[in-house]
Amino acid sequence: MRQLVLVTAGVLLSILLKAHTYVNSGTDELWHLKSDKQSVKAIFLYAKNDSIFLLKQPGTIIALAITDLTEKDNKRASEKIHWINSINKNWFPANRNNTAVFKEGGDRFFAINKNQSIFIFSAALTLFFFISRYTRKKKLIFFIKGCTASVAMVFIVVFNDACKKTAANISASDTRTVFTTAPKSMDSVFGLFRPAVSTSWDNTYFRISSNGLPSHNMMVGIISWQQQVPLPQAYSGSNAWSIPLSSEFAATPLSTKSNFMKGAIAVAANGIPVFNALNNRGEDSYLIGELDQWGGHCGKADDYHYHVAPLHLAAVTGLLPIAYALDGFPIYGSKEPDGSSMQSLDTCHGHTGTNGLYHYHGTSSYPYTIGAMKGKVTIDPATTAPENQILPQAATQPVRPAGTPLTGAVITGFTANTTGNGYVLEYMINSKKGSVSYSWTGGKYIFIYTDVNGNTTTQTY
Ligand SMILES: [Zn+2]
Ligand SMILES: [Zn+2]
Repeated sequence: MRQLVLVTAGVLLSILLKAHTYVNSGTDELWHLKSDKQSVKAIFLYAKNDSIFLLKQPGTIIALAITDLTEKDNKRASEKIHWINSINKNWFPANRNNTAVFKEGGDRFFAINKNQSIFIFSAALTLFFFISRYTRKKKLIFFIKGCTASVAMVFIVVFNDACKKTAANISASDTRTVFTTAPKSMDSVFGLFRPAVSTSWDNTYFRISSNGLPSHNMMVGIISWQQQVPLPQAYSGSNAWSIPLSSEFAATPLSTKSNFMKGAIAVAANGIPVFNALNNRGEDSYLIGELDQWGGHCGKADDYHYHVAPLHLAAVTGLLPIAYALDGFPIYGSKEPDGSSMQSLDTCHGHTGTNGLYHYHGTSSYPYTIGAMKGKVTIDPATTAPENQILPQAATQPVRPAGTPLTGAVITGFTANTTGNGYVLEYMINSKKGSVSYSWTGGKYIFIYTDVNGNTTTQTY
């Protein structure tokens, strides 16, 4: 009889230990998602409603929809849930009627309830009774065994409490950190700029194709010019801009003050890339006069891009986003999606909307678009901060050598030619006029440069 009781108590303890260990130091496993074909390395914690909750190092709890797991992982999750259910039923009579692991009110399986505590305490008392009953005549052994049983009881009570605390902690940080955007909702934004913009998507990315030339005018207003001009870019096919359809909060959002000074950080609704407010020298591009009246200018590959929020696009998008960040979160204009005035912004330059989804806002002062990347992004391993760039990134193709700053030049005019395959750019230096007239046909580019002294040079690339 004594052996039986000892074994029972031992098994009870081991189950408790096992449960506890399972919560705190399970092993990392890969969990695969159907929606974005990505995987998450994390420890299975518990399941609730339609989600499983995983612990990701260094301590973020993420929720994944059970239906979003691949078939294999869905099965693995079911097995874990089933296992929890079965030991629950077998060892805790008070829980016998719980057919689901997930109880209402955030109660976790590993939190031991009052009935279970009474059960454990009774088991310990029984153990103590039997030990004392059979060891009465040998006083020293009785004393040792009595102490052992008491320590075991204290241990169970303390342990029970520790488990409860673990569960409470999990409950408190039980926040949603993985989001999925319906491609159709992104399409309702970029689709507004058809046919200049075309869209497509797969399970992972929403893709935006364009020739990189916006329908609004460009260049006028630039007072710090590197002699670059807008040329069409091949942002299509495998070189289209890509926005992830699934976003996950970054453990530490990377600040745009010290990151992403290369490449785009967002794509505007009209298919034009949006760069960091700081240029690759770390200067506020807008404040130093590098930008035109629409917040853009051209890079070394004569690629037109914005450095500030293209708030003017709201004339077309209305209350829809004016851009999407490369982490997958939308960038709205100066109003909330419901038309109300913009709520206060966090350091990333956004907040969680009433729909429970995170979004950024474009404003007319620094950081204009994104203060820090709220979502996780992949960084090009060939780049280093602050000139690190996010992948995937559409590539630009230079057709002529990069220009140099033209001191004192102010761009005063920019006109498309009648055939729609070229422009004339006019600038002034000390009230003297200069121009660049250029056009392209079949991959050939002709540039006619007229300087402020009237000298003309023609270059073909
Ligand atoms: Zn730029
Ligand atoms: Zn907002």
